[in-house]
Amino acid sequence: MELSEKAALRVHDVRLIDGVSAEVVDDAVLDAGADGKVVYAGPAAGAPAPGRDVRTVDGRGGTLLPGLFDCHTHFGFASTRSLVETAFLLDPVVGMVQTAERLRLTLEAGITSARDLGGLPAGYRDAVGAGLLPGPRLQTSVGIISHTGGHADATMPSGKDLDFDYCVLADDVAAVRTAARRMMRSGADVIKICTSGGISSAHDDPDDEDLLDDEIAAVVDEGRRRGGRPVAAHAQGRAGVLAAIRGGVRSVEHGFGIDDEGCDLLGERGAFLVPTLATVFQPLDPAKSAPWRYEKKLRWNERAKENIAEAISRKVDIAAGTDAGITPHAQNAFELWCLVELGMSPMDAIKAATSTSARLLGVGDTLGSLRPGYQADLVLSAQDPVRDITCLTNPENILLVAQQGVIRKNIVSADPGAS
Ligand SMILES: [Zn+2]
Repeated sequence: MELSEKAALRVHDVRLIDGVSAEVVDDAVLDAGADGKVVYAGPAAGAPAPGRDVRTVDGRGGTLLPGLFDCHTHFGFASTRSLVETAFLLDPVVGMVQTAERLRLTLEAGITSARDLGGLPAGYRDAVGAGLLPGPRLQTSVGIISHTGGHADATMPSGKDLDFDYCVLADDVAAVRTAARRMMRSGADVIKICTSGGISSAHDDPDDEDLLDDEIAAVVDEGRRRGGRPVAAHAQGRAGVLAAIRGGVRSVEHGFGIDDEGCDLLGERGAFLVPTLATVFQPLDPAKSAPWRYEKKLRWNERAKENIAEAISRKVDIAAGTDAGITPHAQNAFELWCLVELGMSPMDAIKAATSTSARLLGVGDTLGSLRPGYQADLVLSAQDPVRDITCLTNPENILLVAQQGVIRKNIVSADPGAS
């Protein structure tokens, strides 16, 4: 979308959720300037007179929210296809086109920003940023670093290596430093490491440990030395969670085994939990899963629900992330339903997917809230998600999506001046 498409935008007749405040404003108006920033967001009664050349959208009583975030995606993965099929059967050009299509569908589902944690080259981020490709604003880790035989080792039980270039194996401090440097050379915004084994990896268990303490600290140091790039840790079992937080990562991904000590440590260190509950609540078909994977999922699901529910009750900073690619794409708001299911209020779930996620991604001063001066990344829901959080899950209920005031999707009936 070219800059010339930018114009001032007014959305009226909406209920407003600003992503920070607990209050909902009934009969609200949002104005964004031609620079894409929010000028006014509040009661219609206090709104300034509309200027000329303003695109106007009648929200028809829908609920306007900040654009949603998904802080844990894999746009390069098809949730409907196994990694073995991807490695051996997929034409890479077709794969790229499919990735682009997932980005577009995810944007149209209301996700205006996303952080990809493995398998997405930085060129997609740049193409979206340059307006060449519709999609969420992106941060990407490009690759995933683990030990040999760890979570990122794509050697199958047959001994065949799927040989994904985003899977980086490193086994000592020097090697993890080199791996982190390679990731940053490839354009990584965030470095993804594994500090525990995983449910979906063939050779380890969530309770197994992966990178050693001094290796975790070395990666964190490499990120610090290069502009303060953060580290995200795949950490499922308790030991891996604690090692990651102690080592200085910015976010614990999954965190299924987190306990009170882990919750306290997260708070002390100002780190975030991204529990990817969509994976926990997604049923796994035993007929289509490897037996070892199905067994681990069964063993871990209830533990994960109990521990994350406790983390929610302890009010740790939780950001929304689905592991889309493992779970279906373009249904990212399902994560909000999962958070509510484990005890979070709908309004707090919305904050998890807006202002808290923006803080995790280091953009909390420009995104994730609909206050004056913030970028006008917007989502209009046909129904009120505070009453029924599931309404955000169906893309058909997402009537309007805008990034920086530029309309990316509009299926709300609009007046003749609207686009
Ligand atoms: Zn993941």
